[in-house]
Parts: sequence; structure tokens; C-alpha cells
Amino acid sequence: MSRFWSPIVHRLTPYVPGEQPKIADLIKLNTNELPYSPSPKALAAMRAAAEDSSMRLYPDPEALALRTALGKRVGLTPDHVFVGNGSDEVLAHAFKAFFEHEGPLLFADVTYSFYKVYCGLFDLPYRLVPLADDMQVRIEDYAGPCSGVVLANPNAPTGIALGLGAIRQLLDMHPDRVVLIDEAYVDFGAESAVSLVQDYPNLLVVQTFSKSRALAGARVGFAFGQPDLIEGLVRIKDSFNSYPLDRVAQAGATAAVEDEAYFKESVGKVMASRTRLSAGLAALGFEVLPSEANFVYARHADRDAATLAANLRERAIIVRHLRGERTQSWLRITIGTDPQCDMLLSALRDILHRNS
Ligand code: PMP
Repeated sequence: MSRFWSPIVHRLTPYVPGEQPKIADLIKLNTNELPYSPSPKALAAMRAAAEDSSMRLYPDPEALALRTALGKRVGLTPDHVFVGNGSDEVLAHAFKAFFEHEGPLLFADVTYSFYKVYCGLFDLPYRLVPLADDMQVRIEDYAGPCSGVVLANPNAPTGIALGLGAIRQLLDMHPDRVVLIDEAYVDFGAESAVSLVQDYPNLLVVQTFSKSRALAGARVGFAFGQPDLIEGLVRIKDSFNSYPLDRVAQAGATAAVEDEAYFKESVGKVMASRTRLSAGLAALGFEVLPSEANFVYARHADRDAATLAANLRERAIIVRHLRGERTQSWLRITIGTDPQCDMLLSALRDILHRNS
């Protein structure tokens, strides 16, 4: 508390990020990073950019090479593409650019907890739309007056994805409002709404390099939408005087988009490990939600999730446990390498056996 704070600072409840522990040799399955290295071509491009004397110059403020590469991959021109420092920043700009209309912003209870934080920061009213009993998003619950809709697809922390039919239904329901689809986890098996961008002027699709491209450390996120939506984001970005991506991040991200083979290989490995891990957890008595993300959401029939998370931590394995009525009985477990998943399963087997 400080007498220097403005009223908004008093009102804010900041996001509590997943732990980034400083201890070595932990099996870190708590913040949905990829367990594999970024593309070697991306790393080489970043090294080259860092060592080039052009580092004395400001980076391309339009990040044109990166936006062109991203657009090309999905058949869109660069004026349909926005980039920012992580998709968190892209989301912040989008909340500011599109949701100051009458009516509450709609998003799920439960979903990515940053959405509430941005509503607090920008003073935007919101309405939480409960998930169904089976943790699915029900599109018909999103009807009614609103300032817009934000939907994580696949949802986090559940990992459950909706198909494009449901996304179309949502877009048709609110033709005069922006529908933001947060596709941070879309590359692990779900269908991207990017194919709908040309048909829907109210659609903004947000994605990230932090998950499927293993570049969380570079902080690069992006959005696809029709040019006037992108122009709205650019105006907000310029008004914040936020710097464009630095030279190293632009070079690495561009090379990563162009290395499709490496991307497919890492995503394929994660999806195969997800099937194995889900089966292993089910065999230990866990209910596992059908995930199309690089994590699974699981709960044990008769074990307390917070205690399980603490027991795993004692064995140097960290997973995510979220408080709250709908989430407290679940663990969100990032898909690691197969050996990491095996260590997790054998630690759980041991914990369950000892306490039985
Ligand atoms: N959206 C969702 C649903 C997420 O889980 C995350 C990562 N925690 C983000 C966006 C932000 O990711 P980044 O800023 O690393 O792109």
C-alpha cells in the first residue's frame, strides 16, 4: 500500500504467474513450455542477429519479415498480421482496442486468468460464463449484449478444444463485437480459426511462439485479423510507445516460422507423449480430460490435488495446482519428454501406494 498509488493500483489484483524455480534438475511441468529446444535454425538466426553490428540500429518497427512469414504460412498478407512481446502483450492491446463498448466482456469461468487482470487494468466490466459440469464451453451461454467475447481454444487449464462450427456460431452471434480466439495451444491438435479470418471482420485470432515453437524466452506473440482490426492494434501499440520486437526476437521467430519440418516433429512428439501420459494417469486412477493442448488436466478420485502437488514437489517434480472452486481438485500437467512423463508417473505411483 502506498499513498502515491492511484485508485486503479489499489483495485488491481495482479496475475500470479507459474513458478520459474531457480533450482537445477527439477522436472518442470508447470508452465506449459515445450520440453524440446527451439528450431536449430531459429537459434542460429538469433545468434547471428546478436553478433551483427546492426544491433546498434533500432529494429524494424513494422517487423515486416516476421509478419510476412507468418501471413504467408496461412495465406494472408502482412496487413492481416500483428506481432507483440508475447501473446500477453497482444491480448493487452486487443482488450484496450476493442472492448470499451457498453456491456460486459464475456469469458469462461474457468479460463486463462489474465483476462480478469486486463479487465481490472483497463476498467472493463466482464461477465464470467460458467463451464458445463463436464468442463466444456457451451456456446449458447454466450448470447446476449456484451462488449465482446474472449475464448481460449483449446481452453486453459482444461485443454478441451471446440471445433470451427462452434467458433462460427459465436462469430455469427455477435457480428458487431470482436470475438477474440486465444489459440496459445492450438498447434497440438485443435483446428485454428485463422481460416475464418477472411469471412469474419469481427474475428481476431491470437497465437504465440511460447508453446509449439519453444520460444517462450524470446517473448513473441501474434494476431491474425482483417486489416482494420490490425490497424486498431497498431494504434494502441504506438500510443503505448511500446517497443517493437528486438532484432534477436524478430530474427529467431522468422526462422522458426520457416522451419515447418522441425515444428511438425516437436508437436508430433508432444502429442504422442500426451496419449501415453493420459493412459498412464488413467491407469493410476486419474480422470483425465480430453486434451488438445500440450498439457493435461487430471484429478484423482480420492486424493487431494494440493497434497499431490506438494508430494510431487518433494520429489523435484512441479505441476500446476490452481485454487478456486472449479479447479482445486485438478492438477494441470505440462507434457514433458517421455522420460520426464515416466518419472512423473512413477513418482505418482509411489505417492499413491505409500499413502494408501
Ligand atoms: N494465452 C493463454 C491461454 C496462455 O496460457 C498463455 C501462457 N500462459 C498466454 C496466452 C500467454 O503466452 P505468451 O505471453 O507467452 O505468448
